[in-house]
Amino acid sequence: MTTALTITIVIVAVLLFLLAFILVRTMIYASQAAASLSVDLPAPETPKLEIDIMEAAKHLSEVVQVKTISHEDPAEDNKELFTLMQKELEILYPRVHQTMHKELAGGFSLIYTWVGKNPELDPVLFTSHQDVVPADPDSLDQWTHPPFSGEIADGFIWGRGTLDIKSQLIAIFEAAEKLIANGYQPERTVILAFGHDEEVVGKGAEAIVANLQEKGIHLAALIDEGGTVLDNCLPGIKGLAATIGVAEKGFLSLKFKVEKEGGHSSTPDRESAIGILSRALVRLESNPFPADIASSRPMFQALAPASSVWMQVAFANLWLFKGLVINRLSKTVETDAALRTTTALTIIHSGVKDNILPGKAEAVVNFRILSGSTIAETCERVRRVINDEKVHFEPISHSAKEPSPVSPSNSASYMQIVAAIGDFFPGTIVAPEIGLGGTDARNYYPICEQVYRFTPVLTQKEDLNRVHGINERLSIDGLHTMIGFFYELIARWSAE
Ligand SMILES: [Zn+2]
Repeated sequence: MTTALTITIVIVAVLLFLLAFILVRTMIYASQAAASLSVDLPAPETPKLEIDIMEAAKHLSEVVQVKTISHEDPAEDNKELFTLMQKELEILYPRVHQTMHKELAGGFSLIYTWVGKNPELDPVLFTSHQDVVPADPDSLDQWTHPPFSGEIADGFIWGRGTLDIKSQLIAIFEAAEKLIANGYQPERTVILAFGHDEEVVGKGAEAIVANLQEKGIHLAALIDEGGTVLDNCLPGIKGLAATIGVAEKGFLSLKFKVEKEGGHSSTPDRESAIGILSRALVRLESNPFPADIASSRPMFQALAPASSVWMQVAFANLWLFKGLVINRLSKTVETDAALRTTTALTIIHSGVKDNILPGKAEAVVNFRILSGSTIAETCERVRRVINDEKVHFEPISHSAKEPSPVSPSNSASYMQIVAAIGDFFPGTIVAPEIGLGGTDARNYYPICEQVYRFTPVLTQKEDLNRVHGINERLSIDGLHTMIGFFYELIARWSAE
C-alpha cells in the first residue's frame, strides 16, 4: 500500500467516525427533546365552563376605556382612574368580591385572597398589571379604532391593554368568577394580584410582595404575563411554538456625562464635549457584548422537534457548530438579544445655540443584561470599551435590576402549564425562555422559586408590533381561549 493511500484511508475513517458521532449526538438530542414533549397530566374535574363571550368582551372593553396610563412623568398620571376601574371590577365580578378578601398595596395595587381548604399548602398566585402605556399622539390617525375606545368590531376588541395586558386581568377575573359560580373550592389558597405601575418599573409589585411577606407567605407558584403561542414567528421553527418565561434579563440604564469648558464657536478647541461623548457612544455601539448561547440553549433544545434537521444537528453539536449557530441567531434582533447583553443608545442631550460650544453633553444607554452576568460586570466592560476618563457614567439607580434567577422548567407547576397549553393549543411545542423585557414577576423571587410568565394567546408575526404600538387588539376567540385557560390552570394549580 502506498503512503498516499494509507493517508486517504485514515482521513476517510476519521471523517466517517466524526459523521457518526455527529449523527448519534443529534439522535440523542432529538429523542430527549421529544421525550420532554409528552406531558400526560389530565386536568382535575371541574364543572363545565360556559362563557357568554360577548358579555366577557364587553367587560374587557369597559376596562380598556378607563385610561389607567402610566406616564414616564408621574405628574401626568391620573390615579383616580385606577380607583374608578377597581369600582367597575367590583360591579363586573360580584362573586369574586364576595368570596375573596381584597386589599390595596402601594396605593393602587390589588391583592385578592381566596382561602383554600387546606391552609397548610403554599398558595398559588395569578398576576397581571392594571396600567397601560399611552398612545403616541402622532400616530392616533393610524388607529382603525381609537386606542381607548374599547370598540368591539370585526371579531376583535380594540385598544390599549387588549394585548398588554388588561386581557389577562379580565381573563383571570372571568375564570375566578365562573369557578366560584360553579361551586369550585380550591384546595390551595389562590391569590390574585394586580400591580398598577408595571409599565414604568414602579413600586406596585414590590408593595404586593411586601404585604405577602409580612403575612409570612411563601408561594408554591406564580404566573404573570409573558411568552405567548407563536405562529411561525421564530426563525427556523415551523408551526406553533409556545414560550414560557422562566427568567428575565437584567435592566440597566447608564447616564453618560462629558463636561468641558464651553465657549464661542468661532474659536473651538480640537475636542468638544459632544465629540468626546459621541466617540464613546460609537465605541459602545460598535463593540457589542460577546454572545453566549448557554442561557437560551434549553429553549432551542425544547424546540428541536419543530426545527429543521440542520438546526437539530447544529444544536446537538455545539462543540463544532457554535460559531455557525451564533452567527445565524445574531441575524435576527430578537434571537440576537437572547444571546447577549444588549446595548441601546436611547437619549442624547447637548447644546442650545449654533454659535455656542456647550459645556456639557449627556446621554443615556440602556442595557439588558444576560442571565449569568451582573450590573457590575456590565459597568466594568463599558469602562473598558470606552477607555476614556473624560467620560463619566453612573447607573440610573431606581431602574437598575440584576438578571432574575431562573425558575425550573421541570417542576410540577411548569408541567401543569405545559399540559394546559396542550389542551387549548393542541400540537403546540412548548419551550422555556429567558424574557427579553421585564415584568412585575421579577419582584416575587424572594417568596417564590417557581415564577412563570405566560399569556395564553396566539401571536402572528404581524401582531408583534401591536404591543405598545398601533392598533392593539385581541380577537374575541382569543379572549375566549384565555378565560378557558385560566379556568383550567386555576383548578390545576389549586388542586393538591
Ligand atoms: Zn405588560
